[in-house]
Amino acid sequence: MDKNIPYKTYLEESEMPKQWYNVRADMKNKPAPLLNPQTLKPMTAEELGVVFCDELVEQELNTTDAYIDIPEEIRDFYKMYRPSPLVRAYCLEKALGTPAKIYYKFEGNNTSGSHKLNSAIAQAYYAKKQGLKGVTTETGAGQWGTALSMACAYFGLDCKVYMVKVSYEQKPFRREVMRTYGASVTPSPSETTNVGRKILAEHPGTSGSLGCAISEAVEVAVGTEGYRYVLGSVLNQVLLHQSVIGLESLAAFEKLGEKPDIIIGCAGGGSNLGGLISPFMGQKLRGEADYRFIAVEPASCPSLTRGKYAYDYCDTGMVCPLAKMYTLGSGFIPSANHAGGLRYHGMSSTLSQLYDDKLMEAVSVEQTKVFEAAQQFARIEGILPAPESSHAIRVAIDEALKCKETGEEKTILFGLTGTGYFDMVAYQKFNDGVMTDYIPTDDDLAKGFAGLPKVD
Ligand SMILES: *Cc1c(COP(=O)(O)O)cnc(C)c1O
Repeated sequence: MDKNIPYKTYLEESEMPKQWYNVRADMKNKPAPLLNPQTLKPMTAEELGVVFCDELVEQELNTTDAYIDIPEEIRDFYKMYRPSPLVRAYCLEKALGTPAKIYYKFEGNNTSGSHKLNSAIAQAYYAKKQGLKGVTTETGAGQWGTALSMACAYFGLDCKVYMVKVSYEQKPFRREVMRTYGASVTPSPSETTNVGRKILAEHPGTSGSLGCAISEAVEVAVGTEGYRYVLGSVLNQVLLHQSVIGLESLAAFEKLGEKPDIIIGCAGGGSNLGGLISPFMGQKLRGEADYRFIAVEPASCPSLTRGKYAYDYCDTGMVCPLAKMYTLGSGFIPSANHAGGLRYHGMSSTLSQLYDDKLMEAVSVEQTKVFEAAQQFARIEGILPAPESSHAIRVAIDEALKCKETGEEKTILFGLTGTGYFDMVAYQKFNDGVMTDYIPTDDDLAKGFAGLPKVD
């Protein structure tokens, strides 16, 4: 064991970040703006304000301020579960026999079981400050809905969650956690919205999708006095809030006198990865340091590695603004055997631009390989990881094994975004040996691309 480096490094509460870092301020090529789907002109603050809270709109459009103050009320809530530990994975290093140093930043130590609470509490705070009655949102696997219901309970806001129907049925316990925090949970598509009824009429018996649940949640927010819509990933504001992960990591590394060479994160909509890498990417963009950044996505939902960089709809009902991103098309739905989360069709426009500028790499991994890594990690490091997080574990292990071959002592940091207690159906499939992989064919993907809007 490296004497100077403890197994866990916790910052003091007083060392926690007081400002979020906005990586767009240091990007030469800014992410493309959101477009109004009717006029194809950039969305104005007024237009966005119909859907989102005013301060969040400001943050969404802010590409120039590198640092934005974290209000004290949010920092107080952060103290209930932060700072999160930076862990040196000594046991994993030993088991792999690698000369690499492996670190992970663990975001699973709160009831929502993931990093999503970092943005949920911020979004609930701004909604409350604006005097709103409540917020609406969608949730897939349920982590975001849980995080938001916790945040809304704290600030006394109503919370309406549209939950992808298949998850609603398969994850009754997630649903009950949300209800315990006071949220109402509706399976999507539902009969409660125009867009839900339309989708049900066109696709009877559909098990739902994130894109569809987003459309329903937006419709309800826009049509209900005193409500706005909030989103748990993809948006620039969410990456901004999640920068607390990277800022704490950077501060801990500086305290230890260490520096990562490779930074790895799983990528669904891109919020944890964007948050983890932001301050390090800032150093790279300013020419102060260099790092390798690796986004890891499922082979069954490969938006970065096989998607197109184009303007696309963010939701199935096409009620949201258009975003330029690496996308598989808003009609893309991963094959039914896909269990590992990270199933959104597009990627954060900030990360998409960084990837297009070759400042970040991306790889895709098959889910049986992901669950092998999850099981190995659980047995060696003790934490039962979320399937999403296990994508990053997979690639961290692969990179550490490469170091074993070459004898290089690289320092690897990965984001362990959450725990997997509610994913036992997927673990059961893996344990029973019946989990399968499906990689979409080019023909499968062509169908999704055919639905891209025509934007010059
Ligand atoms: C939601 C979630 C993700 C993926 O979302 P991003 O916005 O890409 O970070 C990853 N891990 C966990 C545990 C999650 O709940």
